[in-house]
Amino acid sequence: IVPDRDIRLDNRFASELPELGVAWKAQEPVEARLLVLDEDVAAEVGLDPAWLRTGDGVRLLLGVDVPAGATPVAQAYSGHQFGRYSPRLGDGRALLLGELTGTDGRLLDLHLKGSGRTPFARGGDGLAAVGPMLREYVVSRAMAALGIPTTRALAVVATGRAVRRETLLPGAVLARVAASHLRVGSFQYARSIDDTELLRRLADHAIARHHPTAAGESEPYAALLRGVVEAQASLIAKWMLVGFVHGVMNTDNMTISGETIDYGPCAFLDVYDPATVYSSIDEGGRYAFGNQPIVAQWNLARLAEAMLPLLHEDEQQAVTVAQDLLDGFRVAFAAAWSAGLRAKLGRAGDEQADPLGDELLTLLQTGRVDLTSGFRALADAARGDTAPARRLFSGADGFEAWLTRWLALAPDADAMDRINPLYIPRNHLVEEALAAATGGDLEPLHELVAAVSAPYEPRPGRERYAAPAPEDFGTYRTFC
Ligand code: AMP
Ligand code: MG
Ligand code: MG
Repeated sequence: IVPDRDIRLDNRFASELPELGVAWKAQEPVEARLLVLDEDVAAEVGLDPAWLRTGDGVRLLLGVDVPAGATPVAQAYSGHQFGRYSPRLGDGRALLLGELTGTDGRLLDLHLKGSGRTPFARGGDGLAAVGPMLREYVVSRAMAALGIPTTRALAVVATGRAVRRETLLPGAVLARVAASHLRVGSFQYARSIDDTELLRRLADHAIARHHPTAAGESEPYAALLRGVVEAQASLIAKWMLVGFVHGVMNTDNMTISGETIDYGPCAFLDVYDPATVYSSIDEGGRYAFGNQPIVAQWNLARLAEAMLPLLHEDEQQAVTVAQDLLDGFRVAFAAAWSAGLRAKLGRAGDEQADPLGDELLTLLQTGRVDLTSGFRALADAARGDTAPARRLFSGADGFEAWLTRWLALAPDADAMDRINPLYIPRNHLVEEALAAATGGDLEPLHELVAAVSAPYEPRPGRERYAAPAPEDFGTYRTFC
């Protein structure tokens, strides 16, 4: 029990969907130490940052003390992992502590990762290492600063427990806040136990939390599916526009809310290339950068399949409804992508920019141009300084002709600098910060967090955060 604190942690998921959770307890730390705390996120959920830094506060962040009435659960879900269906996944090393109420009145999950083995742990140790938890902290913070829907890291607490990976690593627990942790895999699980009443309750819970307007429509479940399709189309377009590679888009890692979730082997592109794969376990390249829209649509088809009994009494008609809604993905994605690319080119709302956008992607790829630096250099060019762009695109045949045509459209350079980031969590900087933090030095991490939290405005002294990886950084591989 959290002493002397008026913290309310609802158990709405646990009580409305008991079939989808197993009541469980977080593991005691050996020696707890708060590594990082996002005070803005704390404030958004009405938690006092100063108190969270105390011994009692840290015990809440570890889930070992929870307010009276809270019911922490390990959530059950299924999932297609790299295309292969696993009927029973669930939180093997995570817990939903309950729901907090945000200052805006929204219900938000308080969730832990690395909090010990659960009944879903299978062969896993239930633990997480400091490095990967800090990766989620810094990358999810960057995503939020870029205006991309995401779960939010609240804190990372070192546990003083050693975690065996390839070597022994310091252990940690990540506390995060999210609109919910409902996933495509949650619906697959409800469908797999063939309980339509549970499926309906799950869909009603999802509607109430994420797509409340669907409740008032004549076909609420079709409206829910449409809402998820649209939210995901918008999300994936945002990923593609900044060069984010999720790395493990299994159906258990795709939310119903439309937030990015489960930062494992994720990374940002440097050189623009749709075939880019960073994850060491993605041997077939299923989750390559350029595959993300089609994979999202595939995952949504699994959601639609799970929801079929809710879409129509007649199965054939349900399939027709589902197919129609799934076709909406392509349309919504294309619209979000073109609107975003026009804006990146300083031509918001201008269809004339579309062919130039397509050609630019080819130039970026053939010229092996750094995506992030490329767009900032184009803004400089729009302001009259073409030298940086000419240097970056020097390997791209046809760039000169492209530049002349694009400049003739009079792109808005300042608008470009408001949406094309200067500072992203570049792979070499993330690795450097995580290695230092694992060794006990948090300074590089704090500096990287500061840079990516304000991604658009150049700051003196932050030049190295805007520069591509040094040559000797080599091919980047991520591990989860
Ligand atoms: P992920 O792809 O990282 O989201 O994880 C897929 C599944 O493996 C989920 O059910 C996780 O809870 C589980 N899992 C991952 N790592 C561990 C671990 N170290 N111990 C127990 N379960 C784990
Ligand atoms: Mg996961
Ligand atoms: Mg790289």
